Amino acid sequence: KRVFNSSSALHSLIGTQVLFIFILCILRVNSCTEPRRPYRFASAQQGEVEAGTRRKMKRLLSFQRYCHASRLLRGLVPHTPGSLHLLDDDYLGQAAHMLSKVGKWNFDIFLFDRLTNGNSLVTLMCHLFNVYGLVHHFQLDMVKLHRFLGMVQEDYHSQNPYHNAVHAADVTQAMYCYLKEPKLAEQLSPLDVFLGLMAAATHDVDHPGVNQPFLIKTRHHLASLYQNTSVLESHHWRSTVGMLRESRLLSHLPADMQDMEQQLGSLILATDISRQNEFLSTFREHLDNQDLDLQLASHRHFILQIALKCADVCNPCRFWELSKQWSERVCEEFYRQGDLERKFDFEISPQCNQQADSVPAIQIGNNYRFISYIVEPLFEEWLRFTEPSPLSQNMMGHLYKNKARWSRLRYAHTPSDTQTHSHAEEPRGGGGEGGDIS
Ligand SMILES: [Zn+2]
Repeated sequence: KRVFNSSSALHSLIGTQVLFIFILCILRVNSCTEPRRPYRFASAQQGEVEAGTRRKMKRLLSFQRYCHASRLLRGLVPHTPGSLHLLDDDYLGQAAHMLSKVGKWNFDIFLFDRLTNGNSLVTLMCHLFNVYGLVHHFQLDMVKLHRFLGMVQEDYHSQNPYHNAVHAADVTQAMYCYLKEPKLAEQLSPLDVFLGLMAAATHDVDHPGVNQPFLIKTRHHLASLYQNTSVLESHHWRSTVGMLRESRLLSHLPADMQDMEQQLGSLILATDISRQNEFLSTFREHLDNQDLDLQLASHRHFILQIALKCADVCNPCRFWELSKQWSERVCEEFYRQGDLERKFDFEISPQCNQQADSVPAIQIGNNYRFISYIVEPLFEEWLRFTEPSPLSQNMMGHLYKNKARWSRLRYAHTPSDTQTHSHAEEPRGGGGEGGDIS
């Protein structure tokens, strides 16, 4: 029996070898019969090399390259729309079902990201572009659109606990909810919707997971490039422009449509939290004077800026379970910055010292102040603007509940911790770096 088994194994081994040689022969025959590459292939190859060089140039400006932390080196396989086929049909079915409720405020972006295998941003954007008929209106090439969105999603740092592609998808979903507001929806042009969604999806692209003061004190080359002003936001915008040009998504549009890049920049730069007071007071003035005319493109653009700012800081207006997850994530990102500062002997930024500050104290101190001085004043005016819509009332309800919950947690904390962190409750001019989670 053993002899028979050995003989059978030998036969199967020989069979495998014969099959292998047969395949090799076929490949060889094919390579011999393949015609010489015509010249145009060589030039196409040259074009590829040039495109590769341009890509490398672009990557030189990238934080990922700066940090020597390429995704592949870190063992992370980039999520591309192509990986969707790996998912079970059941998961895709559930993701598709979720998309049918994408305009609901209780949309769980974390669940959606899991169901789409980490492709929440690409999947959401493709869906919303179809909902609004933007692909047809702007005659967009679907291959270029997928390529552009794939690049954007991949350029978000998945290792950032907060500033990652899920945050971008969350802001995009919130933006969609705001664009649907009755006060606004009727007035918006396809270009407004296109810019609003694009700005939301790209507003934090290639975010390094540290804030502007960190970049300034570490003398990062981008801080000097943008003269210490809106350093991150400028980089998010210019990175987006680079990817738009590389993908040639808008290259077929007439020249006057190219000012889209400028408008996109104006929207992304509005998310700089240090310009909060400037935008808030202008918004207040318009509402007091009742002089907003949404027939005017410039006024619609201003409202898009405000809507994006709201979408960017709307975490405290979500259900507690979602809101709390975002708070924990942003604190984790602060801690990591603190660890870097300690490592390089810099003074540790407020709320970034994991060793000195307990987790609840930082979360409570940070979020309470963030809600009171950044989020609440902005959403109070948004409520006025929407006259007030059911969504705005719903958001304010969550905001007040979450604020009360943080407050209860704060007072439930030990007195020594409360005293130690009482300074964290003080407002800061222009938002302050500690509240910079946009
Ligand atoms: Zn953001």
